[in-house]
Amino acid sequence: MTQRIWNFSAGPAVLPESVLEEAGRNLLSLGNSGIGILEHSHRGKAFLAVYEETEALVREVGGVPADYKVLFLQGGASTQFFQIPMNFLTSDRTADYLVTGSWSEKAEEEARRFGITNVACSSQDKNYSYIPSQFSFSEKPAYVHYTSNNTIFGTQWPGLPPVPAGLDLICDASSDIFSRPIDVSKHAMIYAGAQKNLGPSGVTLVLMRNELIERGAKNLPTMLQYRTHAKNDSMYNTPPTFAIYLVGLVLKWIKQGGGLSAIGERNQRKAGKLYAFLDQSKLFKPTAAKESRSLMNVTFVTGDADVDAKFCSAATKAGFDGLKGHRSVGGMRASIYNAFPEAGVDALVDFLKKFEADNTKA
Ligand SMILES: *Cc1c(COP(=O)(O)O)cnc(C)c1O
Repeated sequence: MTQRIWNFSAGPAVLPESVLEEAGRNLLSLGNSGIGILEHSHRGKAFLAVYEETEALVREVGGVPADYKVLFLQGGASTQFFQIPMNFLTSDRTADYLVTGSWSEKAEEEARRFGITNVACSSQDKNYSYIPSQFSFSEKPAYVHYTSNNTIFGTQWPGLPPVPAGLDLICDASSDIFSRPIDVSKHAMIYAGAQKNLGPSGVTLVLMRNELIERGAKNLPTMLQYRTHAKNDSMYNTPPTFAIYLVGLVLKWIKQGGGLSAIGERNQRKAGKLYAFLDQSKLFKPTAAKESRSLMNVTFVTGDADVDAKFCSAATKAGFDGLKGHRSVGGMRASIYNAFPEAGVDALVDFLKKFEADNTKA
């Protein structure tokens, strides 16, 4: 088999090897059914068992309360950007957005197509390098939307945003879902495209309070009403069966590894090693404010675009893929989601040290 390399891709991203091996074994026959996982009807017994197990794992691993629905939707997180305001932003209300990066910016822009928004905070003034601490919430917003981890800018909310009690909090958790313990009950809704921390692209996990589902607009196309998917257990139409199956395998892997608190500790340790190196480095420096640093996407620069480019090309040659930063930040970005091995972080730190020694004068 071809040697696997260190994959720092921001998404789709690295998956646990044991998960890929198990999926591979089930391509030709799911268990002893004689039919591969890609080939089973979504209405058949074999896939329904997969579906039920995956849903149960979402509830168990995520600590999802009983009055929340687990939905597996399509269209990515980007579809949620418009589906949420379409359903919940009524003409008598405002929707509050905490704008901490390009993804929250996009979410807020989509909401403006449906009603009035209020940017309750923004860190755009410093190229989204920090999580704000000043807020101006609306009187009675339809909901408050935030992005828990800013994939591009390498910042992450250290905890829940300080939202006034009683408001419906909606979280785009695409790039840090199930990377640490999460209090679902403090949210009206949490959603995440699976392709960063949960599985392959093609499925969006939505956790939604039943009461919110019922409040959604009733005059929308059937597929765009959450109640349609809630009533039909995400099987109103054909769901992304393989992606759901793989999410189930990843959740089993998280559970076997000790659940969210264990994975949270491991993620702290992994990111901690990188930041500890960057903080003392004479060549590289992190771009995010210290108290806002992401444990998932570690962004850093040398301050010289040519040296950044030299580093990225040397890294690629040495078997470290996907380290080039997003164009809006420049420099480098190491995406080290749940499935990224700690050994890969150690290898990167060694490589950074060596590059620094070779590229700084004694
Ligand atoms: C990647 C990402 C998105 C976009 O997800 P799609 O599934 O491609 O639509 C949205 N929000 C965040 C925080 C992301 O990281």
